[in-house]
Amino acid sequence: MKGKRFKNIQKTLRFYKINFEIESPYRLLIDGTLCNAAYANHINLAEQIPKLFQADVKIYTTKCALSEVESLQSRFGVSRGTSLTILKQFPVIPCNHLLAGDVKDCFASKYRNNTESVDKNKFCVGTQDLEIRDHARKKGGVPLFCLKSKVPHIEPPSEKSKALAYEKIEQKALPKHSKKVLIDIKKSCGVDKPSETAKRPRKRKGKNPLSCLKKKRKLTETQSVTAKCRKRQRRKKEPASDDILTLVKNAASL
Ligand SMILES: [Zn+2]
Repeated sequence: MKGKRFKNIQKTLRFYKINFEIESPYRLLIDGTLCNAAYANHINLAEQIPKLFQADVKIYTTKCALSEVESLQSRFGVSRGTSLTILKQFPVIPCNHLLAGDVKDCFASKYRNNTESVDKNKFCVGTQDLEIRDHARKKGGVPLFCLKSKVPHIEPPSEKSKALAYEKIEQKALPKHSKKVLIDIKKSCGVDKPSETAKRPRKRKGKNPLSCLKKKRKLTETQSVTAKCRKRQRRKKEPASDDILTLVKNAASL
């Protein structure tokens, strides 16, 4: 495997390990469409899949997937016998469908708890079926294996998987965040660290530099003089207005 491709696949698998606890030994569910593509491209799935994952991979299929192979001949034009013999190499994991049903629903019932941290029985999915892959992408937390022509491939995490991973990170970070909020509230109330605020006045030593500025004093004196003048003018005006009022009153009384 080439360097960049190997790094991308390991990065994807690391994502699922960190965020969804999906790790070696991997449990991979495969269906008839993948076997059909493997047969067409002369790929031995039992050999190539562990090489791609660089880990132990237990490959399974289901009863529903086996029954679907019956319809492969009409859908893909490949001998159903060949796909069936490939699929039958792998153990059949039991499912709750008494009558063989839709493979998409069957696989979904297996990986439904992939995003739960409690459940340890998590599954990857290997298929060429676009509907099954799309359903798994929308569910999130499901590693997807497929064949791109002759190249085995693990899809990068879907947007849903990334969103779920982000939510998990946020939940883990919440206690720390709440601590910060509490510290901020204490600071705003002045409860937290009163000694630091008490130290500040000690730093102020020596004369106030503003007191040494003589020029500014002169300016303040002139300003005070003008202020006094304004006050005097106002005082002069007040009695004048009173006089006018008394004159008006006297005139009215006459
Ligand atoms: Zn089933």
